[in-house]
Amino acid sequence: MYCLKCKTSKMDKARNSHHYTQCGLDNVWLVNWEGFFCPSCNMFVAVLPEASILVSLIAYRLLVLERHLNGDEILFLRKLLGLKPFTLADVLCIDKSKLVRWENNKDTIDPLSDKKLREKALEKISPSSSPEILKQIMSIYHRGFKSGEVEEITIKKEDLSVMTA
Ligand SMILES: [Zn+2]
Repeated sequence: MYCLKCKTSKMDKARNSHHYTQCGLDNVWLVNWEGFFCPSCNMFVAVLPEASILVSLIAYRLLVLERHLNGDEILFLRKLLGLKPFTLADVLCIDKSKLVRWENNKDTIDPLSDKKLREKALEKISPSSSPEILKQIMSIYHRGFKSGEVEEITIKKEDLSVMTA
């Protein structure tokens, strides 16, 4: 396969990190990931699995965050649920304008809505609702959310096997 960017070189199989911005979050990295590398222009193209698998993997990381979900993360989980803003607002029993403010980082999501959103997302990605993760969500809620920085989410190839098992 010839490089899509410079079109001068053939690309070689390689492993590299891929900043997975396509998911809508800017802190997700696929590390040591298989793909193709162009020796001429140094472009790396990661070979991505089905997006839904990666989305679920990322969601699992979000569900156990000890801090409040931020706007991008709320939007990410809403898209995962396939809901329009007003529908999710209904599910959370809040006003749509509130949700829009949270998604735009104009306000912080309230603890109860944060918990409910995580539970809904968990139902969606795990048919058995993963009792351990549900327990973790509950305990985070009961302890109270901490404040914290947005940390990088790194996904490794091995993580995929959990999803396909
Ligand atoms: Zn190239």
